[in-house]
Amino acid sequence: MTSSERPFLNRRLAEFGTTIFAEMSALAVTTGSINLGQGFPDTDGPEEIREAAVRALRDGRGNQYPPGPGVPELRTAIAAHQERRYGLSYDPDREVLVTAGATEAIAATLLALLEPGDEVIALEPYYDSYAACIAMAGGTRVPVTLRPHEGSFRLDLDELRAALTPRTRLLLINTPHNPTGTVLTREELTAIAQLAVERDLLVVTDEVYEHLVFDDAGHLPLASFPGMRERTVSIGSAGKTFSFTGWKVGWVTSTPDLVTAVRSAKQFLTYVASGPFQYAVAEALALPDSYFEAFREDMRVKRDLLSAGLTEAGFKVFRPSGTYFITTDIRPLGAELSKNGDGFAFCRALPELAGVVAIPNAVFYDHREEGAPFVRFAFCKRTDVLDEAVARLKRLAA
Ligand SMILES: *Cc1c(COP(=O)(O)O)cnc(C)c1O
Repeated sequence: MTSSERPFLNRRLAEFGTTIFAEMSALAVTTGSINLGQGFPDTDGPEEIREAAVRALRDGRGNQYPPGPGVPELRTAIAAHQERRYGLSYDPDREVLVTAGATEAIAATLLALLEPGDEVIALEPYYDSYAACIAMAGGTRVPVTLRPHEGSFRLDLDELRAALTPRTRLLLINTPHNPTGTVLTREELTAIAQLAVERDLLVVTDEVYEHLVFDDAGHLPLASFPGMRERTVSIGSAGKTFSFTGWKVGWVTSTPDLVTAVRSAKQFLTYVASGPFQYAVAEALALPDSYFEAFREDMRVKRDLLSAGLTEAGFKVFRPSGTYFITTDIRPLGAELSKNGDGFAFCRALPELAGVVAIPNAVFYDHREEGAPFVRFAFCKRTDVLDEAVARLKRLAA
């Protein structure tokens, strides 16, 4: 059989064949544009943590397969971090699992917990790997759409309730939320927790932006709500918090039974990863509060810089409460510039128009029409890069 008769990529993954990130990053290179599409920092994290990785490598720590659950130093540091920040206590030996980034944690968790046909409720727009991992696990995704309401994207709790069916197996919750920058409120999280307890659902929480909450409330992990500790798989990562996205060190914290289940899938994905980096991340998690505060403050200033610039350029800005992304509505730019509010067409034209690359939020939606007019910009870039991007974007208003 030839590929034209039967495509190589199987049916489960057919819809995930190409990603917009590759197309847009290529466009950034060929047009010499500033790439505010992909969300990774253009400056490395703390020098002392880089040095800790070098030291581990030189001392021969982690150069061979580390233990399956992760090196004890890191598991202990993760447990200490959860206790110190949130008062959540986890046994480092039975309730903590180190993964190859949050990406593997998400994949292993869904592969471990889902039966074919199980429904997974995820907040739409959602991080792109969720849909692919649910598909690989044979599950069915049920999106609940966050909609603009008074300047931010909010969850409609009635819609969430209405999405539940007897086949619902788990809720996949991301807060702080990529790409909208929404941070779920205590009230929203309380309602989600009540629903999960009432319906006896598992909850998987993607908390990779836990240290990028700009409001005073700070990050509230769902596992800390009543009845949630025993049904929540919490996922964290060093990539975003310490600006080492290439190290791919993530983790899962949950009950011994859930961690064992996730580990069963994880052992056949990567088995282990990032040996020397695990030791360095153990040191990073133990950094004083001043590191986390300075990191957040630096990103808050960048958020304000890019928000102001985008507003001046004519976008409607949804000022994010968390993450390092800003979602905008392009329609106020006018029908012609905004390509009639078509984010895809707009993002393809933006490099020529203004020398900047962004991502159309529609790629994060099943209901593409819901996301059509929204476009995401990343602000985890050097101030001079953001200044230049803002100067270029202002051409749109001219
Ligand atoms: C970046 C990101 C991840 C992936 O984290 P890694 O640790 O790099 O694998 C997961 N979820 C969200 C929402 C992200 O933005």
